[in-house]
Amino acid sequence: MPLRAKVASSVSRTAAALSRAAGRGDGSVIGGWIGLKIDPDLLAHLSAGRAIALVSGTNGKTTTTRLTSAAVGVLGRVATNSFGANMPSGHTSALAKAGSTPYAVLEVDEHYLAQVLEATEPHVVALLNLSRDQLDRAKEVAMMAQLWRAALVRHTDVRVVANADDPLVVWAATPPGDPARGINPPHVTWFSAGQRWHDDSWVCPECGSTIQRSGEQWWCTGCPLRRPEPHWVVEDEGVLDPTGAWHKVSLQLPGKVNLGNAATALAVAAEFGVRPVDAVSRLGIVTSVAGRYAQVDKDGRNIRLLLAKNPASWLEAFDMADEAPTLLSINARDPDGLDTSWLYDVDFAPLRGRQVLITGDRAYDLAVRLDVNDVPFQHVRTFDDALRSVPPGRLEVIANYTAFQDIRGELDRVI
Ligand SMILES: [Zn+2]
Repeated sequence: MPLRAKVASSVSRTAAALSRAAGRGDGSVIGGWIGLKIDPDLLAHLSAGRAIALVSGTNGKTTTTRLTSAAVGVLGRVATNSFGANMPSGHTSALAKAGSTPYAVLEVDEHYLAQVLEATEPHVVALLNLSRDQLDRAKEVAMMAQLWRAALVRHTDVRVVANADDPLVVWAATPPGDPARGINPPHVTWFSAGQRWHDDSWVCPECGSTIQRSGEQWWCTGCPLRRPEPHWVVEDEGVLDPTGAWHKVSLQLPGKVNLGNAATALAVAAEFGVRPVDAVSRLGIVTSVAGRYAQVDKDGRNIRLLLAKNPASWLEAFDMADEAPTLLSINARDPDGLDTSWLYDVDFAPLRGRQVLITGDRAYDLAVRLDVNDVPFQHVRTFDDALRSVPPGRLEVIANYTAFQDIRGELDRVI
C-alpha cells in the first residue's frame, strides 16, 4: 500500500480502538470515516489483492453475509463487516482491522452498491431482493433497481449471484439493450430464495406492463422479462446445487427465508471455488446475528428475538414465529425511519388467535393498525410487563430496529 494509505489504515484502527475503549460502540464507523478523510482511496487500497464478495438487498443481507463468510472460510481467512456497518466507512474499518486476508465478504447498503463496486472491484456481487423500506428517506424501489443496473453495466467482469424470484432484481442483473433481453446472461448465477412480499413488483420495470404470477413462476405480460431458471434452489430442508445434487442444510436460524439465505451463501462461495459439500456444515455454526434470532431464558419464559424493519421482513417474521404469545414493539426514531404509515402495508391477520402484546414509542400507531386489522391486543408499558403478562413458555418478540436494540438492552446484552 502507498504510505498515505498505510498511515490512514493505522489511524483508522486506532480511532476504532479508542471508540471501543470509550464505550462508544464498536468503532467501525468512526474509524473508517477518519481513515477515508486521510486517504479517500483507502477502501480501494485495502481491497487490492483480496478476492471480495459484496452482499446487498433490502432484507437478509446481514445474515447472508455471515453465512457467506462461514462458507468462504473453507478457503482461508475472511474479512467481514460483521456488525452491520454497511457503508464505505464500515467496509474500510473492517478491512483495516482484519489486516491482510485473502478473502472479504462485505454487506453493502443498497444505496452504496455502485460506489462500493467501484472502490473494491469485487469478484462477485450477491443481489438478494428489493422492497420498500423507510419511506421518508429511502429511494423508491424501481429507482434503486435502475441504479443497480447502471452500476453493473459498468462492471461486466463481476460475477453476479441474483434472486430469480424478485422481478426487480432479475431486471437489475440483466444487461439492457439486448433485443432478446438476455434473461440468462452468462455472468449471472440465479438462485431461488422465494419471495413472500410481492407488492413492489406487480409492474414490469422494463415496459410498465403487469407482471403475472403462477406458483413460483412470474412473467411480464408485455415483454420477454420472466423468471429465469434458477441454478440453486431451496428444496425441503436443503439446497439443490447446479449439478442437481441435494445438500441437507442444518441451520441454527429459523424459517424458510434463512434456507434461502443459505442457498445464496453456497452459490456465492461456489464462485470462489468452494464446493457446497465442503461449505454446508459450516453454515450450522452461525447462531444469532447481532442478536437477531437469539433465544434467552428469563423467568420461565423462552424469549426469541426477531428483527423486522419493513413490510417484507414483517411477513417473513410472522412466518418464522411459532404459534405462541407474541410481543410487537415499534419505534420511529431516526434509524427506524420517522414515518410509520408502512404499518398499513403489513397484513397482521396471521397473528389472529395468538396472544398479542404491543409496546414501544409508537405502540399507539400499532394499536390503531391492529384494530383496523381485527387483531385483538394488549398494551404493555415495558418489556418486564410483557413477561409478566404471558404464561411460562415461548414468547416471540418482533421489533423494528431501535425497539429491538431497546429490548436487547433490557436483556442486559446477554446476546
Ligand atoms: Zn415488461
